[in-house]
Amino acid sequence: MILLAHFLFGAVMVKFVKPLYLALGAAFFSHYLLDFLPHKDYSLKSIRTREKFGRGILTDYFKVALDIFLGICLIAISADNLFIALIGALVASLPDFFDFLNIFLPKNKILSALGEFHSAAHWVENKKNPYAILSIFIETTVILALFLFLL
Ligand SMILES: [Zn+2]
Repeated sequence: MILLAHFLFGAVMVKFVKPLYLALGAAFFSHYLLDFLPHKDYSLKSIRTREKFGRGILTDYFKVALDIFLGICLIAISADNLFIALIGALVASLPDFFDFLNIFLPKNKILSALGEFHSAAHWVENKKNPYAILSIFIETTVILALFLFLL
């Protein structure tokens, strides 16, 4: 799922699960649970293929920056404790960060193993995702529900 969804899930975990270390553990593993649901991710082909600096790379980084910005904005307007909520958001999005690192450190065995597990969680996308409309509906519903939980 997009980072926004993972951010919100992490913020919801630290709001409702106590103590904090359990909430952060739940936030981390929630990443794979959310990615298991049918969803649509935006393409980051230029970053994944390590294209030379240019329009493609800039567009990809802009998409990621916008995703992060929107996630932080939604948490900022809804969370009780912004700092703790952002820590939850950060931990919940770690698998995507590990994937990003794996692009530049492809020989790192730990990152590669995490990347394979992460990729396996995207089972619907791996099947060329025949449920595009349903996927967008599910992702939107999850994001709205998580946002409402934070209010
Ligand atoms: Zn992911």
